[in-house]
Amino acid sequence: MKKILLIHTGGTLGMMPMDPGEMLAPGNFHNEILEIVPEINRLANIEVRIPFNLDSSDIGHKEWDLLAKMIYDSKDEFDGFVIIHGTDTMVYTAAALSFSLLNFPSPVVLTGAQRPLSKLRTDARSNLIDAVQLAAMNISEVIIVFGQRVLRGNRAKKLSTNSYLAFDSPNYPHLGEIGVTIDLDRKQCRKQQGKFIFRPGFDSRVLVFPVHPSTYIECLYSLIDSPVQTLILQGFGVGNIPATADADWIALIRRFTEAGKIVFMTSHSLRGGIDLGLYQSGQQALKAGAQSMGKMTVEAGFVKMQKILTMSSDRDEIIRLFSEDWAGENQ
Ligand code: ASP
Repeated sequence: MKKILLIHTGGTLGMMPMDPGEMLAPGNFHNEILEIVPEINRLANIEVRIPFNLDSSDIGHKEWDLLAKMIYDSKDEFDGFVIIHGTDTMVYTAAALSFSLLNFPSPVVLTGAQRPLSKLRTDARSNLIDAVQLAAMNISEVIIVFGQRVLRGNRAKKLSTNSYLAFDSPNYPHLGEIGVTIDLDRKQCRKQQGKFIFRPGFDSRVLVFPVHPSTYIECLYSLIDSPVQTLILQGFGVGNIPATADADWIALIRRFTEAGKIVFMTSHSLRGGIDLGLYQSGQQALKAGAQSMGKMTVEAGFVKMQKILTMSSDRDEIIRLFSEDWAGENQ
């Protein structure tokens, strides 16, 4: 039987009110999870660990590094890893792990729930069982298993706050569907490729800013003298931005570039990708020094840039590293 490490990090799945509104302490959750969902013991040999118990809005660099280290340290002991995680920032943690554990040979599966395990009609039970089942399969990447979908972690987005189909990967096919049987689309899954690299660490000097019509952008000029190294602008369509009298984003990009900083263009649109050559607006942005974020989700691009800033401070090198495909985030 496969050995799976089940890592509980918090989120709705584990919220079990003893009195209304109160959550169980981590220790209790540890004892109860295998009693409440004993089925998972039939699927694999499960060991439970609880490194922290947080609402996922409070999860960041420290927790990403702790999880990556925990998985790295126990990679020879377990065949697969399941991380129970709040849904709010699950895709960031998935992206972070995919970049910290590059070419990791075993499945790392994130899951959670929209409704706590302790409530009737919960989605926690089925998500957890599905996640354990997937973690026992032959998969070499970080995935999200949620609402009967198997998704590449660094391509996924949380699209709903109330549907049991909370996640999707709008710009990449599902890796699998879970129905009566689990149907993995092996063509879409990553083949194990390249040497495994454990690379923890993130750098906060990245800012994402959404572009809207007639925005007051003067305040952004103050970033030029700030420690922010990379600005990710979320423009329209294929990466277009206004260059109007009331908001000249092109001038802003030029000033950023002249100051030695880097500007990347992404989009509000979820499907397709960035093409700065298609319209005059994008071409002006290119000329002013903007770079394309390709097909990456905002979340994955943001986390990847936080990683890259720990690896290089050379502008050309940063741009080159960012355009590479490391873990299927940009293919
Ligand atoms: N606020 C919760 C969290 O992300 C939501 C959830 O788990 O669904 O931790």
